[in-house]
Amino acid sequence: MARSRPRRTNPAQRPRVIVLATGGTIAGAQARGPRRGYRSAILPVDALVAAAPGIHSLARLETEQVASIGSQDMGEAVWRAVASRVQRAQANPSIAGVVVTHGTDTMEETAYFLNLVLKGAKPVVLVGAMRPATAISADGPMNLYNAVATAADPRAWGRGVLVVANDEIHYAREVSKTNTTLIGTFRSTQRGLAGLVSAGRIHFYGAPVRRQTRGGTFSLPPRAALPRVDVVYAHAGMGPELIEAAARAGARGIVIAGVGNGNLAAPALAAAAAAAKAGIAVVRSSRTGGGIVERNVEVDDDANGLIAAVELNPQKARILLMLGLTRTRDPMELQRLFYSH
Ligand code: GLU
Repeated sequence: MARSRPRRTNPAQRPRVIVLATGGTIAGAQARGPRRGYRSAILPVDALVAAAPGIHSLARLETEQVASIGSQDMGEAVWRAVASRVQRAQANPSIAGVVVTHGTDTMEETAYFLNLVLKGAKPVVLVGAMRPATAISADGPMNLYNAVATAADPRAWGRGVLVVANDEIHYAREVSKTNTTLIGTFRSTQRGLAGLVSAGRIHFYGAPVRRQTRGGTFSLPPRAALPRVDVVYAHAGMGPELIEAAARAGARGIVIAGVGNGNLAAPALAAAAAAAKAGIAVVRSSRTGGGIVERNVEVDDDANGLIAAVELNPQKARILLMLGLTRTRDPMELQRLFYSH
């Protein structure tokens, strides 16, 4: 196991790290008085940095507020803004790495999007928090500290986009939010952690396995909007209606959060096959939260023209399908992307 690097005492020698902020609970504040709850995306990025004692000993930090939103409102416009800003930072030889603060709800989607479209090897670390900045035992300051340490570490080069939270380092492809409130919400159940980071001391584990960043198929697509891809959640006795509604709404792709191994009830399967026949890319993922959806197990993908999500959960299958559809509509070519990315 590789040991973490020593801190540099001479400020001029510290690596330069850019912190791009987008909002989320890490920038959230609780209302004073009797009202319950909190609002995310309230505090500016400089307040987040100021709340993490000692963070300037890790790196020379520069901050930029790219957006101020809860990540449930994240979408193509902010993805593009963040991706373009990261690309510029990666192209600048004097910058060591980039941190992106982000709400946890859809962090895995932004992380996976960036992981697929960025080409640089320089570290890009997404970080969030489960507790607002004003909460007792807010987790944001330590998460941010650890994220900066990770982005400043040359051993993070070439690992693609990372997510740091709760002393863990996750690969963008593997990580998922699994709990509504626990600070240990992020898990990489399939292939495990990228590493651990404790008070800035880092231990990296195995390398990422699938194609990504400069080894991947994609780059940031030109300004035409990404195609519409809807996620439809399956249940016992599912009917055809929601799949038909997605097709009518203009979806070019549909991801089914299927039961078990990406299964769906007979009427829903008939609707999925009809959508595929009409030229819509239909991907079978699973609502279980783990495991592999393989081709042609209980569902005949060959006969129905369907695509198996393999290891990707529905929300990540949606990202890969959106990008894949900018290249091809052929189900078997899209299937190859799901086996390789
Ligand atoms: N819904 C908010 C968001 O994703 C809060 C969740 C969080 O950041 O932990 O931005």
